[in-house]
Amino acid sequence: MWKRLPLYVKILVGMGFGIIAGLIAVYFELSELTNDWIKPWGDIFLNLLKLIAVPLIFVSLVKGISSLSNISKLSRIGIKTISLYILSTVIAVSFGLILVNTIEPGNTFPDYKKIELQEKYHTTIDLKKNQASDLKNESPLKFLVDVVPSNFFQAATDNSKMLQIIFFAILFGIAMVILEEKKVKVVRDFFDGIDAIILKIIDLIMLFAPYGVFALIAGLIVDFSGDLDLFSALGLYAITVILGLLLMIFIIYPLFLRFFTPIRYADFYKAISPAQLLAFSTSSSAATLPVTMECVEKEIGVANEVASFVLPVGVTINMDGTSCYQAIAAVFIAQVFGVDLDIYDQLIIVVTATLASIGTPGVPGGSIVMLIIVLTSVGIPIEGLALILGIDRPLDMLRTVVNVTGDATVATIVATSEGKLNTTQKIQVEKSR
Ligand code: ASP
Repeated sequence: MWKRLPLYVKILVGMGFGIIAGLIAVYFELSELTNDWIKPWGDIFLNLLKLIAVPLIFVSLVKGISSLSNISKLSRIGIKTISLYILSTVIAVSFGLILVNTIEPGNTFPDYKKIELQEKYHTTIDLKKNQASDLKNESPLKFLVDVVPSNFFQAATDNSKMLQIIFFAILFGIAMVILEEKKVKVVRDFFDGIDAIILKIIDLIMLFAPYGVFALIAGLIVDFSGDLDLFSALGLYAITVILGLLLMIFIIYPLFLRFFTPIRYADFYKAISPAQLLAFSTSSSAATLPVTMECVEKEIGVANEVASFVLPVGVTINMDGTSCYQAIAAVFIAQVFGVDLDIYDQLIIVVTATLASIGTPGVPGGSIVMLIIVLTSVGIPIEGLALILGIDRPLDMLRTVVNVTGDATVATIVATSEGKLNTTQKIQVEKSR
């Protein structure tokens, strides 16, 4: 019976039991027991996912790019992908700004809470401040320099250097497309074999997913049980972020799907639900990538040559949830600190939040450091980070879901426009098309 359940149901069951176990642990004060004996299983699961992320990104990109018959096809898909990624990010930031300026959550924030929180997060602020001053002293072209690795293996050992892996994989793939087939045949077969092995490993890791998710959620509940009053103080801010993220999921992506693909959004969401649930439990879009790829290819029917290019790139540069959140967080902090932002400042936020989300690594809390860039660009005191750090994790979980959903949506749109969407039987295609 259990074996036959679809993956998303198994993950949901894992989450449900995780919540129950976490609440029991909080109620009976068993936090230590949970931290010692349950949480490590969640960490093991996360490590397994991270372990496979770098080889998966590299191999699937090389395979995807080298399977394109010529450079013009590659640049066409590349341009479409990047344009859609930027478009969806700018929409997300704009929505965030409209919401936060309408709801104004910062203007209702109690003063005593502000002081309490600043004291509580004093050390974290100092740490972030150092990172901020490092960022300020850098050349504007540092971003480009960082994309080009000087040592492939060093890049491969650091999950925050995904862009460097992507750069080398694209270079590698392009060289394969340019060279004569007989010269690269062996390499092509080799990558096909490795790809099959990696996919099998992911299947094996996924057998452990429900238990891993159980442990992650139980651990999170224990960690957050003390912060409930924080949540209520920051309630309106949290609601604004959640509203922005839900708008992306329930309005923007369905509209994208409606206009640019033949797929019904309910079917689309059902197909990618394992990836969404995993994104929610792990707060890491990079760790979720293997499952996102599987759902998009096997359940939606996006051809491998499109998915294996669009998704690994998206995991690194397309973060709609993160950018929407960064805009809301920046303006919220400005409101709390009484910093007036004019329309010009808001435009700067659109640009910097878009760029910052591109540079954000797909790991838990990845956007916190990047938020500093947005804050400093319009003169908002970075001390304000302290206000929002405490409740960042639950919001991170949801924005990661949006990040992953955005990547899957763009992959489906690009596949449709390239005639590379072979919808599976499970997916209903709109009758009118
Ligand atoms: N956790 C997010 C992700 O992995 C990044 C962030 O917004 O912090 O997509």
